[in-house]
Formats: sequence, C-alpha cells, structure tokens
Amino acid sequence: MTLPPIDFDGQIVKPMRGVYSCPHKCGDKRYHQPTWKTEKGFRKHMEVCPKGLTAAQTGADRADQEESEREIFIASHPYAHAIGDVVNFVHQWVKLPAYKNGRRVRYDEVLGFRAIRTTVTKLTATRQGNMFPAYICGTFLVLEHEIIADEETAERLAAERQAAHEAHLKFSSDVR
Ligand SMILES: [Zn+2]
Repeated sequence: MTLPPIDFDGQIVKPMRGVYSCPHKCGDKRYHQPTWKTEKGFRKHMEVCPKGLTAAQTGADRADQEESEREIFIASHPYAHAIGDVVNFVHQWVKLPAYKNGRRVRYDEVLGFRAIRTTVTKLTATRQGNMFPAYICGTFLVLEHEIIADEETAERLAAERQAAHEAHLKFSSDVR
C-alpha cells in the first residue's frame, strides 16, 4: 500500500520507502532517524517532537515576515479590480478525493468545475514562488489571472474544463 503525502502545518511530508520521518530530523545524528509507518504515528510524534517548538517559532517568524511582504506588495501593486467589483472565475474543487483517512480509495480524484460570479471583499496576494495579486471574494481566494471578463465565458470555460477532466478520468480508467 502506498502512503499518502501528509500536509503538516502547510509543509508536505512525503513518505520515503514506505515510512515517514520527522521533518525536523530530531533523531540522534549518529543513528538512523526514527520513522513511522502511519500518518497517526507521525502526527503523534510531531506533537512531542523535541525540535517542534523551535520549528513552530521559526514558522511564526516566517508568517510575520510573509504578512509584511504581502502588505507592501498590496500597497505597491496596481490591482485590476477593487473591493466591491463583481468578478467571474472558474472554481475547481475536489468532489471525490483519492484518499480517505490515509487510504487510497480511488485512482484519480474527481474534480468539479463551476463558474462563480462574486464580489471582491479584500485585496490580497499569494505566494507561488513570487507574490501574485489575488482577491478574497467571500470564502474564495481568486488569483488575478483567474478572473474572467464575463459570466458567459466563465460558464463556457467551466463546462470545457469539466468535460476535459471527465475525458481524462475516462482515459486513465481505460488504460488501467
Ligand atoms: Zn521530530
């Protein structure tokens, strides 16, 4: 059985040779690092990891720095939309996940796509390597380049992406 990657505090921990190891490498360097065969075991360790506190501290410092960089970016970047603007975009979500409670339940996750028409509630920025302009629209985070000019185009694109995804699922089930 293949173990799924774990999202730990925003950091992806991938299993190596069937086991997880501590991302802080807290074990004695002279010996093999401790490993866990299950996500539960891994998470239990992370609660008591001797290097965990320092790691959480650096994480908090990094988050503060990230927040101030974001504020500078927002103040200096020309945003195409303002708070209160109505925008359209294609929302993608996971309808059926590939993993449930750490177990693989299907080969491919099943995605849904739909056009959303909504209002900008806040300007923000998101980091994907560099900072990119983005908008908070209610509960959605929308990147500037994801915004589509009009509702009809958004609906057409959502339908196209849905059809392409279904074709991909069919193709990958046919070749299995
Ligand atoms: Zn540890």
